[in-house]
Amino acid sequence: MRKPFIAGNWKMNKIATEAADLVSKLKENVGSFKDADILICPPYTSLLAAQEAIKDSVIELGAQNMHWEANGAFTGEVSAAMLKDIGVKFVIIGHSERRKYFSETNQQVNKKIKAAISADLLPIVCVGESLEQREQQKEKEVVEKQLREGFDSLSQADLEKVTVAYEPVWAIGTGKTATGEQADQMHSFIREWFKKNFSDQAAEKLRVLYGGSVKPTNIKELIAKENIDGALVGGASLKPLDFTEIIKNSSLG
Ligand code: PEP
Repeated sequence: MRKPFIAGNWKMNKIATEAADLVSKLKENVGSFKDADILICPPYTSLLAAQEAIKDSVIELGAQNMHWEANGAFTGEVSAAMLKDIGVKFVIIGHSERRKYFSETNQQVNKKIKAAISADLLPIVCVGESLEQREQQKEKEVVEKQLREGFDSLSQADLEKVTVAYEPVWAIGTGKTATGEQADQMHSFIREWFKKNFSDQAAEKLRVLYGGSVKPTNIKELIAKENIDGALVGGASLKPLDFTEIIKNSSLG
């Protein structure tokens, strides 16, 4: 039985004081909730304020991106060790917005996963197809390539540190959600891929989150599916009441 995992991706929202305020509201509602793992991923500049604010709660801290090199002449970038140093535990890697707006490739995703694990961070690796790719019925081909290249030469032990998020690009921030059925089909495809390429045991343990317009009203349908283990939530994670409801509803599946 995999414990539900609800992660909030705040994207480029919330300055430090707003982050502290949002966390304190969330803490009042779910600060000691044990039936799901809870994560927030604020922007870099609000990580320290959020880190301070989540103290004495079950809420964990994540970042939204990182560079694969440990240090050096990479202006504007942040390394895994820098995140670890300020108490970050998780890091989102390969979000579709990074792939789309910053041309991130599967090869870079692969380097980032390895660097995160070496620095003792837990990666949440995003995969998912565009609307055009789904309309051409290429969604499995696309996700398979993202997995094959993104997880190249990773070990079983590495996989134990990883969470995968399936986020169909056409469902992110659009209000369109994949149906529970559509999402579960892809989630089971993803789990099968890990069974074949890693092991049954590793694949059974792996948590695969769904992301794309998750709301308090659709989380129950999604989490009820066998292969959906939680959600990566964008917009709704900025609303403390909605995020709270998503967290509470995720353990009812
Ligand atoms: C996301 O940013 O990962 C996401 C799923 O966004 P939203 O929930 O707003 O669609």
